[in-house]
Amino acid sequence: MSESTLRLVWVYPDLLSTYGDRGNLLILARRAQQRGLPVEIVEVRSDRPLPATADIYLIGGGEDGPQALAAQRLIADGGMHRAVNQGAAVLAVCAGYQLLGTSFYAKGARCHGLNMIDISSDRGPSRAVGELAGEIDPRLGLPPLSGFENHGGRTHLGPGVSPLARVTTGIGNDGQTEGAWHGKIVGTYSHGPALSRNPAIADLLLRWATGHDRLPALDDTWSDRLRGERMAAVARPA
Ligand code: GLN
Repeated sequence: MSESTLRLVWVYPDLLSTYGDRGNLLILARRAQQRGLPVEIVEVRSDRPLPATADIYLIGGGEDGPQALAAQRLIADGGMHRAVNQGAAVLAVCAGYQLLGTSFYAKGARCHGLNMIDISSDRGPSRAVGELAGEIDPRLGLPPLSGFENHGGRTHLGPGVSPLARVTTGIGNDGQTEGAWHGKIVGTYSHGPALSRNPAIADLLLRWATGHDRLPALDDTWSDRLRGERMAAVARPA
């Protein structure tokens, strides 16, 4: 493939990288490069302006304090919002997913979100910690989601978004659905380096960003093995 450079923006690694979220950036960059797509990686700390032109924005998980601060700074910045209005894709994980909505709770207080997708989050009766699996929305044509979750929030979806998956193991948004998608935005409770178990989601983002309907297949032996192990573990709980 010969293409223009794909610009990946990692949003606020100083605040939202608590759970190895950098892995998603590395996986996306690697899978693009293996298809001959040149990649530029832009890491933007929270005291710097976000570029308003890029192809994919990655926003990760975090504890309540950094999450609330990140939301304030992202609202004041406005760059990611402008980029999405111009067609950029977003992968948002856990705290990053919650803060794209209208509101979320952090340290007992209701916080304003970025209003980029029609979701709102509040607190659940207990923390959701453990394996997370689900059947992804068939319109996306992806294999089942496999991940690990660790969050206190529960998320409610408005009519303007679709659930990413129907939960088969774990809690996700509310025990029934997991994550959300709308346009080129994907949000998930699958923790940290979620793309390591879900390379098909990485390729979905790359297809959205490049406009290609298909990408050359890659050797996914290792992620397939990892997915298989985890799926078997949840099918046969100890
Ligand atoms: N602070 C949020 C919650 O507990 C998000 C946590 C996370 O990113 N893992 O719901």
